[in-house]
Amino acid sequence: MPDASRHSLTSPERVLWPDTGLTKQGLLEYYVAVWRWMEPHVVGRPLALLRCPDGVGESCFFQKHAAQSLPEGIRTVTLDEANDLAPVIDDFTGLAGLVQLSVLEIHPWSAKADDIEHADHLIFDLDPDPSIDWDEVTAAALLLRKKLEDLGLAAFAKTSGGKGLHVIAPLDATAEWEQVRDFARDFSKRLAEDEPERLTAQSAKDRRQGRIFIDYLRNGRGTTSVAAYCPRARPGAAVAAPVTWAEVEAGVRADAFTVENMPERLASLARDPWDGFDAARRPLPKLP
Ligand code: ATP
Ligand code: MN
Repeated sequence: MPDASRHSLTSPERVLWPDTGLTKQGLLEYYVAVWRWMEPHVVGRPLALLRCPDGVGESCFFQKHAAQSLPEGIRTVTLDEANDLAPVIDDFTGLAGLVQLSVLEIHPWSAKADDIEHADHLIFDLDPDPSIDWDEVTAAALLLRKKLEDLGLAAFAKTSGGKGLHVIAPLDATAEWEQVRDFARDFSKRLAEDEPERLTAQSAKDRRQGRIFIDYLRNGRGTTSVAAYCPRARPGAAVAAPVTWAEVEAGVRADAFTVENMPERLASLARDPWDGFDAARRPLPKLP
């Protein structure tokens, strides 16, 4: 476990989540507890950062590119010919640096910093219209899993810590972004065509009404999704939590796990809910 006392913050007592009272120091200590589980999913990737200098609320801004001077442990990777840089962390010191910058949400790319042209997972974000019963969201996630597995992919689920579920399929990082994006789009459109009453792959508001939107648009170059084990900059400090399919079947909610209860959850788990994630990497399949 990292040692929180080795990472000093300025204004450690600043409250970042006013409703729960979670402070900057509290956030650092949460990360100490989850680091072992979070590390594989956050290190060595370009990151976009939701920074909130005054905590949850209006001070928040989303930063896709790195600023000039960064705390110890945060390096940068060049993203494009315009020399845009993204921050990258490699260890807990880097994570503590993000806390120091009042980063409340960490959003990694679906690619490694040393291979940014190749996605190493697909991600489908299920966004339910507020009128939808949670049972339907559960069913949609299970359907996605089945369809991915039918194509030879593995599927893993995480709660978003917000309103929906994310379904992730590990890839072997051989396909180009364009292929990955096209696959995600065609796969999602087909799924929505099979269940037009329940699902849509179109972001238009009227299409989403009464349905679950399968957001496949996070599978393009430069797109990001909230990191596993990261809290959300919303009241309650719910976290994006890797869960097992048994938990999905049991109806686990998007905001079930929080900064408050996650350390206890992890301490009581016999194994990683995403056990076998890395070993499950596959080439991008072709749609039949
Ligand atoms: P929910 O379950 O509430 O839908 P989510 O994690 O699926 O949560 P958002 O947090 O709304 O969805 O993020 C949507 C997408 O936009 C993600 O790809 C994320 O990386 C990105 N993003 C998040 N916040 C911002 C922002 N302020 N500006 C631009 N992009 C953002
Ligand atoms: Mn979502």
